[in-house]
Amino acid sequence: MMKDTKGTALKTSKSEQAGRLKQIEEEALREIVSKVAGKSAAELVPILKDKGHVDEFKIAGKAKITINELRNILYKLHHHDLVSSIRKKDNKKGWFIYFWSLNVERAIRSLIREYSKEFESQTSLLDSRTKKNYYICPKGHTELSEESSLEQNFECIECGELLVLKDREIEQRKINKTIDTIQERVNLLRELVHKYEAANKIAFEKDIIKVAKEKKEARAAAKKVRVRVAKREEAKLARVKAKAKAKRGERKAHKKGMKR
Ligand SMILES: [Zn+2]
Repeated sequence: MMKDTKGTALKTSKSEQAGRLKQIEEEALREIVSKVAGKSAAELVPILKDKGHVDEFKIAGKAKITINELRNILYKLHHHDLVSSIRKKDNKKGWFIYFWSLNVERAIRSLIREYSKEFESQTSLLDSRTKKNYYICPKGHTELSEESSLEQNFECIECGELLVLKDREIEQRKINKTIDTIQERVNLLRELVHKYEAANKIAFEKDIIKVAKEKKEARAAAKKVRVRVAKREEAKLARVKAKAKAKRGERKAHKKGMKR
């Protein structure tokens, strides 16, 4: 009884986790797609995700945009390797129709790279804000390094107010918070990448097993052919031998007849 309850609970949490990852994935895809091709492009994500290759006219219809608007977006995404296409000839109309699919894994990896760049720039910002003093206008007009402030006699160019030392701690806390958020985001995205890698590994192993099975079947088929050919040769040889024996018998009978 206890076991059952536990087992069910475990299953639920597993499917919950899968659902959570799916949601993270969709959000991440929307994010990278809008970064590359504009905010409206994000609407293509649910149309393309997990759908294989989709007819471009169907995509345009579902997204409620013209085929030219769609192609503009798709070309931008294609330029960043986020989508790929295949074409098929329409036998009725005689022209080619393009089918598009979303390169989910590549898109997620590309978003991780974006975040890594942001991480680097925030880290160097934190570094400079830890080592150097900055001065600000109390009315919020300007923010200058110590050297620049000295050149201006610590006066705001806009209003002439005396500049004040910026509170380092508040700023550092803010940057640290941004860095933490980025780190958290990257960790989630890495979880997705691990999921893809595991799936790729399984697919790869399945492929190896499939190839091995095919080789074994080919070997078995070749053996069957060899056995069949050998049997046929054997039968042929037996027929030839039988014929020769019969002829010998005939000749013997003939000779006997002659003697009489
Ligand atoms: Zn000012």
